[in-house]
Amino acid sequence: MRPSLLCNRVVRISACGSVLVLAASVSVVAASPPAEAIVQDVSLDNYIHYHQDLLYTYMGDNRGFGAEHNLARDNIFDELSAQPNLVVELDPFNYNSNTYHNVVATLTGTDVPEDIYVVGAHFDSVNNPGADDNATGTAIVMEVARVLCRYRSPATIKFCAFDREEQGLRGSRAFVADHVGQNIVMAVTADMVGHDSGPYGMDIFGSSLSSGVISGVVDAIDAYGDGLATFLAGSATFSDHWAFESQGIPAVVAIERCFQCNPYDHTQNDAVDNPNFPDGDYLDYTMPTNLARAFVGLLVDEIGITLWHDANNDADIDMADFAELQRCYGFPATDECGAFDLNHDNTIDIDDYDSFLDALTGPTR
Ligand SMILES: [Zn+2]
Repeated sequence: MRPSLLCNRVVRISACGSVLVLAASVSVVAASPPAEAIVQDVSLDNYIHYHQDLLYTYMGDNRGFGAEHNLARDNIFDELSAQPNLVVELDPFNYNSNTYHNVVATLTGTDVPEDIYVVGAHFDSVNNPGADDNATGTAIVMEVARVLCRYRSPATIKFCAFDREEQGLRGSRAFVADHVGQNIVMAVTADMVGHDSGPYGMDIFGSSLSSGVISGVVDAIDAYGDGLATFLAGSATFSDHWAFESQGIPAVVAIERCFQCNPYDHTQNDAVDNPNFPDGDYLDYTMPTNLARAFVGLLVDEIGITLWHDANNDADIDMADFAELQRCYGFPATDECGAFDLNHDNTIDIDDYDSFLDALTGPTR
């Protein structure tokens, strides 16, 4: 079968050749590190859409034991399920004789799938709208997932919306228990990250076990967080990162600076339409979107996430990659040839060729 496919390919390449050469001759886009390009995919508008339209964050809403708890959970599941390349589960656990569910979306690694990175936040609240605590963190998980699922990740990333954090980290502890013996490399989490009590920044909590992740998050916020400050806040047991750290897994939680200064936490006024903010500025959405950019940049740098089709990893889909595609065509998706195997069938074939042309001639990503 392969010769005829190859023949077909040659015809197609020659038909497109003049267009491709022209594109190459006028392309003066400088190569940049992948993280700098990928971080730009984080969208403030899309973040606000998640936070305000899908997570029930207005006065009267209740994601604790109220009607909006399951509605929000199902919206998270549906939105993640609508994204490409993610396998999404409602992951059950038992608490107080009832079954609850974490929403877990998995982007399977292409090279070392056994290495697992976790991006997490709890979506439950204390019988209130929980706009800051913790729809702000949940929307980060959703936005980081939406961005990264479109790229090639050598390692596996699990995007987790945990349930029942407020009753003692129940969902995250269940998740960790389910993964005993597996290689969770690190977990980065966010909890209350949208109310600016000043200064504009994040407390980064984690124990000495997590010093590498802490410095990684701090560096990523410095590089990609657009002015968000960081403060080393020491060890803490009161958020989902602790479910990981207590089992020996490096993990951190980012929380808005001086979260105790937010008097509306765990009250009915922790709402987008908090009546004490008639101008609608209870939340500063640039804080969580900048943190989302930092999480994206951290994972791209740590894992070595790249653009599909970018075989030479110069953050540009160009003629150099086309030359690699020609070399790889018809062969297994090993080493740099794996950059073209967007349909995950472990062979570089006509489908991958077509998607390469889309990437080369269409939108950058
Ligand atoms: Zn919280």
